[in-house]
Amino acid sequence: MTDCLFCKIVAREIEAEIVLETERALAFRDINPQAPTHVLVVPKAHHADAAALAEADDGLADDVLKAAHAVAVQEGVAPGGYRIVFNTGAGAGQTVFHVHAHVLGGRDLTWPPG
Ligand code: AMP
Ligand code: ZN
Repeated sequence: MTDCLFCKIVAREIEAEIVLETERALAFRDINPQAPTHVLVVPKAHHADAAALAEADDGLADDVLKAAHAVAVQEGVAPGGYRIVFNTGAGAGQTVFHVHAHVLGGRDLTWPPG
């Protein structure tokens, strides 16, 4: 997608602090972190949201989830607990329509989220 912010980060046309790259996923720090660790994990291929990712074939959603967990381990938040969030649709607060998992950790996280 030519006019997609996260496609541009994947293409290295816009800078981001990349923390992990796999064959089909990329993880980079959120520009407006909501926790000490706040990393976004995206598939390199453009899918608008988690619903579209769930319908993608050949295990892409699996790759994104595995990359999200690898980020949590790498960031040192896995032992203390972390959260993976896919805001899906504008009503759930999604603002960038290239699916991304938020990986949040490093502080106590309350439930339910707002
Ligand atoms: P969402 O509201 O779930 O769509 O999340 C979009 C996230 O992208 C927000 O947490 C933003 O802070 C983050 N964001 C927006 N622009 C950038 C950027 N250029 N680099 C990194 N994160 C970004
Ligand atoms: Zn995109």
